[in-house]
Amino acid sequence: MQNTVTPTHCPYCALQCGMNLTPAPDGTVEVSERADFPVNRGALCGKGRTAPAVLSTSVRLTSPLVRSGGELVPASWEEALDRIAEGLSRTRTEHGPDACGVFGGGGLTNEKAYTLGKFARVVLGTSQIDYNGRFCMSSAAAAGIKAFGLDRGLPFPLEDIPKSGCVILVGSNLAETMPPSLRFFNELRENGGTLIVIDPRRTKTAEQADLHLAPRPGTDLALALGMLHLVVAEGRTDEEYIRERTTGWEEARAEALAHWPEYVERITGVSVPELREAVRMFCEPESAMVLTARGPEQQSKGTDTVGAWINLCLATGRAGRPLSGYGCLTGQGNGQGGREHGQKADQLPGYRKLDDPAARQHVAEVWGVDPDSLPGPGRSAYELLDALGTDIRALLLMASNPVVSAPRAAHIEERIRSLDFLAVCDVVLSETAALADVVLPVTQWAEETGTTTNLEGRVLLRKQAITPPSGVRSDLEVMHELADRLGVEKGFPTDAEEVFEELRRASAGGVADYSGITYRRLAEENGVFWPCPADGDTAEDVHPGTPRLFHDRFATPDGRARFAPVAHRATAEEPDEEYPVLLTTGRVVSQYQSGAQTRRVDELNAAAPGPFVELHPRLAARLGAAEGDPIAVVSRRGRAVAPARITNSIRPDTVFMPFHWPGEGRANTLTNPALDPTSRMPEFKSCAVRVETVRG
Ligand code: SF4
Repeated sequence: MQNTVTPTHCPYCALQCGMNLTPAPDGTVEVSERADFPVNRGALCGKGRTAPAVLSTSVRLTSPLVRSGGELVPASWEEALDRIAEGLSRTRTEHGPDACGVFGGGGLTNEKAYTLGKFARVVLGTSQIDYNGRFCMSSAAAAGIKAFGLDRGLPFPLEDIPKSGCVILVGSNLAETMPPSLRFFNELRENGGTLIVIDPRRTKTAEQADLHLAPRPGTDLALALGMLHLVVAEGRTDEEYIRERTTGWEEARAEALAHWPEYVERITGVSVPELREAVRMFCEPESAMVLTARGPEQQSKGTDTVGAWINLCLATGRAGRPLSGYGCLTGQGNGQGGREHGQKADQLPGYRKLDDPAARQHVAEVWGVDPDSLPGPGRSAYELLDALGTDIRALLLMASNPVVSAPRAAHIEERIRSLDFLAVCDVVLSETAALADVVLPVTQWAEETGTTTNLEGRVLLRKQAITPPSGVRSDLEVMHELADRLGVEKGFPTDAEEVFEELRRASAGGVADYSGITYRRLAEENGVFWPCPADGDTAEDVHPGTPRLFHDRFATPDGRARFAPVAHRATAEEPDEEYPVLLTTGRVVSQYQSGAQTRRVDELNAAAPGPFVELHPRLAARLGAAEGDPIAVVSRRGRAVAPARITNSIRPDTVFMPFHWPGEGRANTLTNPALDPTSRMPEFKSCAVRVETVRG
């Protein structure tokens, strides 16, 4: 592969920016602009530009490690795989199949996510599988399914954004999370459209907005209801659309009318004139969109909060109309595909429900097993991690680092330490891998071929560009070898395209139908939007894919969208005398998720070397804290310490911490695992804390 230019995609976020990779004679890999991919047209953020550094980092794992005498020591692949098979097999025999847990990630390719779900259910026979995407966009997924009968992050391509009349971005800081996507919003404004940003912080994204509303964390459900109240009161509803294309309006309308703007102002801190202005900006143009991200979604009422924003879109006739509607900006690289192929606790490939007899029958036929042998739904991610060491005695973990990224992280770390057996597949010794009994070094994005599905529902081919270092193997090979050792000799191919061919059959007829997509098409067409059924007798009878959803009908049984009858409720943990301040958490531009990869890149570390506590000058003055002083943030779950960053861009009643780091400054030590009753999403975005200066 020397000196060959390979068009491929970034390993990190759900934008899945296109890039060209060229191996250099010195063993490094050069990234160059790939202008033909319409999402980023060549632009990359610092994370994407420096991604090859992780391929050759000096701390790259190139040998399996097994625990011996309390230490992780190098071992052969045979010994390491035998140890994992033995650990899982013993657990299953002694405690039953559900004592084996499997934890995946939104960074796994479609092929790996599919195979991991199949491995858990067919080889281990366990119901206990979930993944870190539960902590990402699961509330938006649940709300989308309730309202539209289908969850695809964006039901339209990003290229529609500049042509819309108004976009409301709720709880999304794209300037830090997906910088190349900002051009769509810049073009929107150049074309005369307006941008409203709703965020408790005046982020770099909010600075670019025509209107920035800064509600208290955890109150955007009330904010959406207040806007809907004004929409009704000002006669801005689209009655014909409501009548023809929706159900449930009367109940949703009654809830909105109960949320008087003055009441909403008291809850949110957003003034009535600001609310009125937002409603005017949203309702006056012919087209408008609402896009949510982790802000409204990572709440213990995340599903209802997203439902309230969808209600606003439905009442104004936006969803399923050109250049309009509701969308979720999925975060992780394969956050979309990762939730479609069966690594979720309650789902089978094709985004099918695990408790649906017809779905079980279809997938069991593809897998060549008895449908009755498939376990039922298991625990959600936090509940699974919380059960480690008790009901769940052994865990196989891929592409995740919950010691840093799970809520109430010190407790979860303790649960992981209490396991009888832990096996981790990773590229570096993450904080979670460091606790394992066996660590397997696996291939990375540029070293293997596979598909991902970006936040638009566009399925993409990520091509192998370089030869992997000796000593590492792909996750598919790991599952093949383990299946073989656990008595399932067939059904776990190591070739990604072969897995994809099976995935196509398994997804056929499902919501997320990939059956008309082939590797050849993906290479030629620069991605294909699902659903893409195989229309004719052969897979090559080409369906064009579906960039835009819902224009004719919604994916509900009656084709109508459903309003959510939602009302404001408080966050799970409101401030009180002991914990008087709110903590919200989020991201910085130079780190990604738990930082397992990006903390290994010098340039990114220099730009974002560690955590910080962002606080308002008034709060800092009350504490007697100066810029850079160590600040202790204490919640009911623990204490984290990081330097003060004093800024007017945050509300005086709120502090902010990014969550990318382990150790003393680990933000997730503090966060609240209160779960949304529908999506089982923890409340990362709001908890009560007290803030103290740390005296030397
Ligand atoms: Fe990679 Fe996301 Fe940055 Fe694009 S925006 S280069 S996909 S991390």
